[in-house]
Amino acid sequence: MKRNKSFDNSSPLLYLVATPIGNLGEMSKRALDVLSDMDIIAAEDTRNTYSLLSQYGIKKELFSLREHNENEASEHLISLLKQGKKIAYVSDAGYPGISDPGYLLVKNAIEQGVAVSTISGSCAFINALVASGLPTDHFYFYGFLPKKGNEAKRELEKLTDREETLIFYESPHHIKETIKLLQEVFKKRYAVIARELTKLNEEYIRGNLDELMALNFETLKGEMVILVEGNHNLENQISENQIKQKLAYFLGLGISKKIAIEIVSTELGVGKNQVYKIAQNM
Ligand code: SAM
Repeated sequence: MKRNKSFDNSSPLLYLVATPIGNLGEMSKRALDVLSDMDIIAAEDTRNTYSLLSQYGIKKELFSLREHNENEASEHLISLLKQGKKIAYVSDAGYPGISDPGYLLVKNAIEQGVAVSTISGSCAFINALVASGLPTDHFYFYGFLPKKGNEAKRELEKLTDREETLIFYESPHHIKETIKLLQEVFKKRYAVIARELTKLNEEYIRGNLDELMALNFETLKGEMVILVEGNHNLENQISENQIKQKLAYFLGLGISKKIAIEIVSTELGVGKNQVYKIAQNM
């Protein structure tokens, strides 16, 4: 068991600082205070972070930690933290570690006795989820799907039974292909595209996947989060239609309601009570 207390100064402490996902007004005072106090700021892209910090007049030594050098770079940072250097890590936008580098750095830091603390800020999928109108009590964040269509489809098929709201990250270049795949796998489920969050062109597009497929994707610029309703009652709704159709067919043949209920219940593998309730309204 390991315990780390973020405010007792007894062990080296790595800060993970969330940065704005578009709107600079979302850089918190606490984030600026912590960054101003650091000896080194490690960053996913030092040019981006340099320009972000310049907006607030913060000048610091920057160090690059990207996906491709995360392991080696994190070892270097951990040794500096152990020598007493004050270090924070920022990714390009939002939270480090959320579809961004940061996980390995944190894992290695914890393993080597470095405490870790997060400075809160914006996260694209949290903004999108909260305003989506889809259930927020349980959700499944997938992040980016694989780029190859067949691999992406296989991944989506694994999610069809999940009842939680499903959340994906996407770039504007792939949005059309991704919505098409989502429609193939999740049929008419309700979905939301949340784009350009916190920016001037922020927009939520809500509808079923057939409706979203009809969008003019040329006009959909910027960064996007896609949310799809979980498998909530969807199968039941489909069964209800199927049950109705089957019942209507047998009743149309002149078969009694009682027998039709039995046949439909056996054929579709659904309980007699469920079929009986539907048959009562026919
Ligand atoms: N670390 C970030 C976070 O905490 O949300 C995510 C970084 S990931 C590399 C970039 C993806 O996040 C984009 O492709 C998009 O799916 C989503 N994203 C980031 N900023 C966004 C915004 N302003 N509006 C909508 N989606 C955004």
